[in-house]
Amino acid sequence: MKYYSLNHNAKKVNFKDAVTDGLAPDKGLYFPEEITALPKTFFDNIENLDHKEIAFQVIQQFVGDEIPAEILKEIIAETLSFDFPLAEVEENIYALELFHGPTMAFKDVGARFMSRCLGYFNKDKKDNENTVLVATSGDTGGAVASGFLDVEGVKVVILYPSGKVSDIQEKQLTTLGKNITALEVDGVFDDCQDMVKKAFLDEDLNSKNLTSANSINIARWLPQMFYFFFAYKNLKKQNKPLVFSCPSGNFGNICAGILAKKLGLPIKHFVASTNINDTVPRFLVNGLYEPKPSESTISNAMDVGNPSNFCRIQEMYDNDLEQLKKDFSSYSFSDKETLETMKTIYKANNYIADPHGAVGFLGLKKELENHPNALGIFLETAHPIKFLDIVEPALNIKLPIPKQIESVLGKEKKSVKIKTYADLKSYLTY
Ligand SMILES: *Cc1c(COP(=O)(O)O)cnc(C)c1O
Repeated sequence: MKYYSLNHNAKKVNFKDAVTDGLAPDKGLYFPEEITALPKTFFDNIENLDHKEIAFQVIQQFVGDEIPAEILKEIIAETLSFDFPLAEVEENIYALELFHGPTMAFKDVGARFMSRCLGYFNKDKKDNENTVLVATSGDTGGAVASGFLDVEGVKVVILYPSGKVSDIQEKQLTTLGKNITALEVDGVFDDCQDMVKKAFLDEDLNSKNLTSANSINIARWLPQMFYFFFAYKNLKKQNKPLVFSCPSGNFGNICAGILAKKLGLPIKHFVASTNINDTVPRFLVNGLYEPKPSESTISNAMDVGNPSNFCRIQEMYDNDLEQLKKDFSSYSFSDKETLETMKTIYKANNYIADPHGAVGFLGLKKELENHPNALGIFLETAHPIKFLDIVEPALNIKLPIPKQIESVLGKEKKSVKIKTYADLKSYLTY
């Protein structure tokens, strides 16, 4: 499979180069040259396939022969070593729980898949390893740290803003050691992000084989298609139209859902639910794409002012807004609405939603007004414990600590403190 840059100013590359580069040299995102729908027999028979078999058929065309089938199957088995249950929250509304992985965030899926692909591509060049450089506001860092731990030939450097991530998130980033290093930046998330961007453009660092591990990387993005298929497998027998709502930040998840639809998955409609960072909802209303600096909210993994994957979604609709709107809506909600909804869901249905899931639920309810016979699914992207400082006071409850989290809490934090880009550069070149 070949991938082209959405900036159309770089040469086409294979899967391996797209994964190891992250971004194309012209700074465009990579996109698959061909998308072939899966055969009807696959959908007719999906209830007889397990998660690993489904995932293999879904991802195979995007990897091609660059990873042998047997190895790709092993990578998938390691990636999907946990469950993806659907919880019925109210009649015809389900939460697709993506938080049962090692760091309790959906990003575990993409991080685990990408790390193992990179590990495979690096297996013969121990002296020329890749460095994964990632800035995190909290959730991504933990999933990347856990996903890449012990992967040979890959070093991981995570930048996080000192004092700005939760205690649990900090422990997930800073206690693993081995090939994972946490750089604690004296600054805010934007400072971390700016340093990472600068490093990717810095020619002095070319020999370090830097790559990114956020959803611009196709190996993080593509496996996010899997769970839309898993949900379909579960709900197929009800024979109703499906509406999916994704709590959206960089729009990687929802973009993977739309690609799943391109592969033939019968999804009626998508909702990108956002917090007050509403660049896409505004675009759908007035046709003007006007990114703004991000604003802080209680659903902070979605505090994104210029969603990086939106250009991939537009590509799938030939940049035609009217076509896009037939399949896709996007709504924005305030923190106040989010908190109220967390309370209502808990009171009425005894379901504990995290702030991101609650935003997804709000968008779903709104869109379902247009689809009275549909089943609605919202993605629950993080376990409520990851946002306990918001969830516990809002619902007036105490959450038990799950074992995945407990195992890191007692470990010792190790971080390297940095302040400037020069500090980062000297760390990387040392
Ligand atoms: C990353 C993240 C999101 C946003 O996902 P995108 O694919 O960037 O839209 C939503 N919720 C949580 C908990 C996340 O960590």
